[in-house]
Amino acid sequence: MIFIAGISPKTTIIDEHPRICPICGLVRAYYKRTDHYLTLFFIPIIKVKAGEPFIMCESCEKSMAEFKTAFDSGPMENITPCRRCGKGLQKGFMYCPYCGNPA
Ligand SMILES: [Zn+2]
Ligand SMILES: [Zn+2]
Repeated sequence: MIFIAGISPKTTIIDEHPRICPICGLVRAYYKRTDHYLTLFFIPIIKVKAGEPFIMCESCEKSMAEFKTAFDSGPMENITPCRRCGKGLQKGFMYCPYCGNPA
């Protein structure tokens, strides 16, 4: 009998409640995590390494890290504070990526 074992990444949505994506404005941004599993015959058996959670939009596939890069690269005069949570919003964002409030 031959065992086919390996390590495979598996991305799971760890948040049942999607939030609004500031890039496309759709409520498709989920908390996800990429864990690594020991697989046997291509079936995940044991979780060997848990990944860091990240937010990624299902629609445009932008992660929250990319949202943040968009913030950081923008000139300061284009940043307006969110009326609800006070976080800096870049001009052009239709929604606050932190709390989902329309900008
Ligand atoms: Zn999106
Ligand atoms: Zn906000």
